Amino acid sequence: MNPQAPSNTFDTPTNTKDWHTISSQKVVELLNSNAEEGLTSDEVIQKRKYFGRNELKQTEGRSKLSILWDQFTNIMLIMLMAIAIISAILDIRHGNFPKDSIAIFTIVILNGILGYVQESKAEKALAALKRLSSTQVKVIRDEITQQLDAEELVPGDIILLEAGVQIAADGHLIEAQNLQVSESTLTGEATAVIKDADVILGLDAPLGDRLNLVFKGTQVVKGRAKAVVTKTGMETEIGLIATMLQSVEIEPTPLQKRMTQLGNVLVTGSLTLVVLITVGGLLKSGWQIFEEILETSLSMAVAVIPEGLPAVVTVTLAIGTQKMIRRRALIRKLPAVETLGSVTTICSDKTGTLTQNKMIVQQVCTNSFDFKVTGTGYQPAGEFQGQNHERIEKEPEIVKLLEACVLCNDALLQCSRQPEKKTTTWSILGDPTEGALLSLAGKAGIFKEDLERNRPRLAEFPFDSERKRMSVIVDNADGESAYAMFVKGSPESILERSLYIQINNKPQPITEQHRQQILDTNTHLASIGLRVLGLAYKLLTEIPDIDTAEQNEQGLIWLGLVGMLDAPREEVKQAVQDCQRSGIRPVMITGDHPLTAMAIASKLNIAGTGDRVITGQEIAKMSPAELEEAVNKVSVYARVAPEHKLRIVKALQKQGEFVAMTGDGVNDAPALKQADIGIAMGITGTDVSKEASDMVLLDDNFATIVAAIEEGRVVYDNIRRFIKYILGSNIGEVLTIGAAPLLGLGSVPLSPLQILWMNLVTDGLPALALALEPAEPNVMSRQPYDPKESIFARGMGLYMVRIGIIFALLTISLMVWSYNHDLESANPDHWKTMVFTTLCLAQMGHALAVRSDTRLTIEMNFFSNPYLLGAIALTTALQISLIYVAPLRNFFETSILSPTDLLICLGFSLLVFVWVEIEKLWQRYFFTKRK
Ligand code: ATP
Repeated sequence: MNPQAPSNTFDTPTNTKDWHTISSQKVVELLNSNAEEGLTSDEVIQKRKYFGRNELKQTEGRSKLSILWDQFTNIMLIMLMAIAIISAILDIRHGNFPKDSIAIFTIVILNGILGYVQESKAEKALAALKRLSSTQVKVIRDEITQQLDAEELVPGDIILLEAGVQIAADGHLIEAQNLQVSESTLTGEATAVIKDADVILGLDAPLGDRLNLVFKGTQVVKGRAKAVVTKTGMETEIGLIATMLQSVEIEPTPLQKRMTQLGNVLVTGSLTLVVLITVGGLLKSGWQIFEEILETSLSMAVAVIPEGLPAVVTVTLAIGTQKMIRRRALIRKLPAVETLGSVTTICSDKTGTLTQNKMIVQQVCTNSFDFKVTGTGYQPAGEFQGQNHERIEKEPEIVKLLEACVLCNDALLQCSRQPEKKTTTWSILGDPTEGALLSLAGKAGIFKEDLERNRPRLAEFPFDSERKRMSVIVDNADGESAYAMFVKGSPESILERSLYIQINNKPQPITEQHRQQILDTNTHLASIGLRVLGLAYKLLTEIPDIDTAEQNEQGLIWLGLVGMLDAPREEVKQAVQDCQRSGIRPVMITGDHPLTAMAIASKLNIAGTGDRVITGQEIAKMSPAELEEAVNKVSVYARVAPEHKLRIVKALQKQGEFVAMTGDGVNDAPALKQADIGIAMGITGTDVSKEASDMVLLDDNFATIVAAIEEGRVVYDNIRRFIKYILGSNIGEVLTIGAAPLLGLGSVPLSPLQILWMNLVTDGLPALALALEPAEPNVMSRQPYDPKESIFARGMGLYMVRIGIIFALLTISLMVWSYNHDLESANPDHWKTMVFTTLCLAQMGHALAVRSDTRLTIEMNFFSNPYLLGAIALTTALQISLIYVAPLRNFFETSILSPTDLLICLGFSLLVFVWVEIEKLWQRYFFTKRK
């Protein structure tokens, strides 16, 4: 931070704690800002130099030292260190250089460093993810309302707040409409605080009572406000307390937890082996060969532990998150990477996720007029095509409706010109539903800036998806009363509150016939898939209090219906089909009309015509048992409020479903938390919903969920694949080592150093490459797996034992043969190198064969995983160099093998490959026969 304050910028030190004691005008003045126009770009640059970015320095989580320490407290490494110490004692007693123990210690240290680097990298990657999911803020700068990264804010910025937003900096309220903020992150107080822009408080008002201020990290639960930023970054209250909401959580995945358990099992298993072999050996042969027995048992213990496995799992999960980001899905909680593949039901919002959320008003119906509107995008250009009317848009009945569309609206219609291309682009800032209404009015020459100049907004009852409507109160001084209230929302809810209907320029009492006609039109528009809004107004003599929406939104004057098209996303139809093929049921849950929902659902094949739709009202009346029964059959829920979403997830889970659920609003958070995979919208989602989610869709698209599920399945398949690969070979090693003394071969075939080499290098590299194996063709045409299944499920445990035995049988046969062969030769330890080489080479064949459970290697594209081919080539070359490069040979205590020896090793090792391929053929035969 530059200590030099820009000249003439701040007369008051901005780190004052007393902003609550001054009025907002004074604060704006002190910060050299302008409540209407905001700061200029130049002022922002100057202030940024002084205040820096609006970010919280990372709170110290685990210190570097503790991350490093944790690497060495892993039970498998402790075990290895114990082995190294015993091995060193044995070597020193015999006057040998303690090579094995030095190697083990080196590997322990390297493993520790690797783990440390990986964890630090993971933390960095998480920090990057945090930046990606960073909060956006609406700011007024250079007289324009714009959306920016929260980190860009500087003191003096004018920010706009609305329900669902996480406040990005500390600020003083300039105006607030029904603003309620949850400050529990700061004060621990669970109930939301009702804020007031106009109070001036005493110096000693505690933080929780500073009603005119808002604080970084807290969340707007209701209402809207404008505020001037007073403090940013570490200067904010939350910065001072130096706690930070973790937006991306580090949590071990179920698999990682199971891996830890597996580690414990293996360590216990190997300790048991050590004890058994030592005791058994002593009982059989007595103390004179104690050291040999100890040597064997230590080697077996080293062989059991899959030293490379934890690193491979971490890397695979990291690769999975990266791949998902490329497919526009941001994982916030690591377990999701692995459990996504198990999803059986996806509950998705309609608007924006299944549809494009590019709304265009197509139809307008008032009492006297019913007409179509043409045009594309948000450009305010198009025609009003009515029955025999030249200029419908000039009719008072229509003008009033269009004014309601514009005044009761929080969006902004913006036009940007590109002089070089001589083009003009129209876009909206805010909710597309509202944008469409602005564009509609623009087609009749009615714009917000012009209307609001004479009729500024004075109060409002904001939209929420429970009420399904919103109202604004505007100054109506030049009209027939002091104030007017404009209301828009779901037609049913507006109509039931209307007592009059606007006919030409006059309100008339609404009749049953009127009501029926409106409802029929609404039904018709909804059944052709349009999203329909009702509009109404009312005159007022005084501004109502906040929290009086129910009393005031009554006795309305009905204006008309507006039907807008929101076409389904092109790619969703295919995604729905993919889901259905892969045993996943897509379910639509929307706040929209049942017929609109059904029309879109049938276009996308989520439901067929005639299928049942359940509405929120029906859910409210159902008992949990009734709902549980219904959820299995129903795929479309309409007019649903957020609390119903929670009930639907619970009911589905009760039925044994593994549920992914999307959400965007504040009130969706509980349902997102309850779902097995909570999915928030990256573009339209509120910060609160993102905070509660496991995954964020960067493009709000349903097809992205399906893509992420596919990646999740690939990750899980690959993890199983390399566990199978690594543990199968470990079992083979252990059995071979154990067999040597039992068969009377005198000493152990493999030294701890060689075992470590195999477990880390010759197993580790191909295992890493297996993590990059592309999806199997059937990945999205098979049923989801149970997320709670054990690592050994679906025959994997048996496979590992079986393949371990095959490994052992082959190597033991080779060992016995070459041992006897060596008896006559000059080099008595030559057989050990044969065993070492065969085990390594056999793993190369195993890596190739294990790529698919069902397809033969010749049926697969040999080059689809070039990393594996590279890893096999590299590992083989390294293994050969241990035999033929003299210093390595000495260090690893190997002997030179003749070309014939090498061919024999290769021949034996190929048998593992052949065995796995035959198993696949056998399974294929067995399954076809069963069918
Ligand atoms: P989904 O849950 O699929 O995203 P949705 O966007 O229609 O559907 P909500 O945003 O809860 O769900 O909207 C519910 C209903 O509220 C809509 O059908 C519409 O009638 C009304 N509505 C939506 N947006 C507004 C708005 N900005 N102002 C007034 N009423 C609205």
